[in-house]
Amino acid sequence: MKRYWTNLSDLQAAGMIESIEPLAEVEKNFQTKIGPPLQAQIASFSEDDAAYRALTRQFIPAIEEKTILPRELDDPIGDHRHSPVEGVVHRYPDRALLKVTQLCEVYCRFCFRKEMIGHKGENLSQVELDAAYRYFESHPEVREVILTGGDPMILSNRRLMTITRRLAEIPHIKVIRIHTRIPILNPERVDREFAEFLKSLRTEKGVQILVVIHANHAAEFSEAAREAINCLLDHRVMLISQSVMLKGVNDNFKALSELMYTLVDFGIKPYYLHQMDLARGTSHFVVEEPRAIALIHELREKVSGICVPHLIQEIPAGEGKKALY
Ligand SMILES: *Cc1c(COP(=O)(O)O)cnc(C)c1O
Ligand code: SF4
Repeated sequence: MKRYWTNLSDLQAAGMIESIEPLAEVEKNFQTKIGPPLQAQIASFSEDDAAYRALTRQFIPAIEEKTILPRELDDPIGDHRHSPVEGVVHRYPDRALLKVTQLCEVYCRFCFRKEMIGHKGENLSQVELDAAYRYFESHPEVREVILTGGDPMILSNRRLMTITRRLAEIPHIKVIRIHTRIPILNPERVDREFAEFLKSLRTEKGVQILVVIHANHAAEFSEAAREAINCLLDHRVMLISQSVMLKGVNDNFKALSELMYTLVDFGIKPYYLHQMDLARGTSHFVVEEPRAIALIHELREKVSGICVPHLIQEIPAGEGKKALY
């Protein structure tokens, strides 16, 4: 039976890295996790294909991660400064994040929350969740809660449904967003029970559910992913995307336009394209701002407006997002 690659030995056995020793320190800082569907997706491309490189570069540890620049921060987007209770980030009046878990389906080498993600973190406890619900209840200006992490869909149906239902019962909460990579990278996780539950929140409680798909390259999308996305669409879930502009992955017109076309073909509206935040050991992924702006400009000129996301940069002091285009 296929299983997850969770360490350098697994990667070496699979022929994804040559030797372990040079990467040992890298792995101590940020763990590896690649599941069977993503392994199969990688294996479906030949090694000299740009798609292969786009996948391995995102998920296989690299020696470049050892380069830590002075400007790179532990908390690049200033989450801590805007956290009233554990797990909640409330920076804008009408919406707040709830970081339900620090675990993910897959660990992205460029992750901007890498200092809190993976084995350094865990799920929010019941006590912490209760404090978060009380916070939302006493802040009627919060009309939207964004479940994030980590990847909220790593939680079991039972746990995720309990949290989501509890939020939907707060009368002023009208929208719940779920930020996830799972419908694309582990499509089987999207089962009918979960989709039907999401639909019931809309039909019974009048709460809009948005699933925000994180994807950075067309090569991530499989036929199984299409089924998972179709299942969500069939259950009246609104689908939007967020991507990260990544050097060597999608920093050219061809890759970027293919990504956006693929999203739209699947029924997902491109929403945000993030400029990289200054997380430790990620400088090899940084696309300089003028280049990023030129690329999105080219996209705007050549492809349907439906395919063009907003180019966004987080301001490091925690002051929020700046639209670059
Ligand atoms: C990005 C972000 C949101 C969501 O912002 P939108 O622009 O509405 O997508 C909400 N809260 C925090 C803290 C954020 O960083
Ligand atoms: S899924 Fe998101 S939170 Fe998890 S490692 Fe990737 S970028 Fe980070």
